[in-house]
Amino acid sequence: MTALDQLADDIRNAHHIAVLSGAGMSTESGIPDFRSANGLFTGKRSFADVVSIDYFMDDAAGFWAAFREIFKIKLAGGYQPNAGHAFLADLEKNHGKRVSVLTQNIDGLHHKAGSDEVLEMHGSLMGATCLFCHTPHDLAWVQQHDVPRCRSCGMVIKPDVVLYGEAVPLIEPAFELATQADLLIVMGSSLEVGPVNMIPLEARRAGVQTALINLSETRLDHAFDVRIEAGIGDTCRRLGDLLA
Ligand SMILES: [Zn+2]
Repeated sequence: MTALDQLADDIRNAHHIAVLSGAGMSTESGIPDFRSANGLFTGKRSFADVVSIDYFMDDAAGFWAAFREIFKIKLAGGYQPNAGHAFLADLEKNHGKRVSVLTQNIDGLHHKAGSDEVLEMHGSLMGATCLFCHTPHDLAWVQQHDVPRCRSCGMVIKPDVVLYGEAVPLIEPAFELATQADLLIVMGSSLEVGPVNMIPLEARRAGVQTALINLSETRLDHAFDVRIEAGIGDTCRRLGDLLA
């Protein structure tokens, strides 16, 4: 039995599937791995220094200028879901599965594809919120103003992306969902970023079947029952055929 057949079987047998998705899920929609923007700041400030709550608090205008550049704010919202996102939405809509998507991505594409249960563990580029009065603002507002301010109180608003130095608010529910599922599939994550990379280890300890679809090897390959080294879209199209 090939790994792909095995994974198709696991999906067939599972009622509740947790999916942990990373940057590799989005690259096929044309979205760059934002971390590679590091090069922009050679010498002075690292990615983690710039995309941080400290920098936002210290110099909100400087923060927003850099943030816009790194995350290509002008383009945000224009990307479309790919075959991988569509496959997960389809498992829910047409195969009767409960699919809990735990994503490291901030592009909103799982929502756009129609997945119902999405935990954006690193937040979202699709909006910004006032830390003072908590008024939410949408992407259009952020795109219209160089240094976006709260429409209610005038304070500079913070992007809904989880910044370095901020807690990852959804990490506990993510661990819970992953350890309660029948199957955990990691898609397009190199599992380099903690604490998210601990999720598959915990799931496996809890007796959950685990699968990894990624273009290259990871340091945590040993934590998976099934490993597929291939692109997400291609793999998901083939899985879709096997499940049809
Ligand atoms: Zn406000």
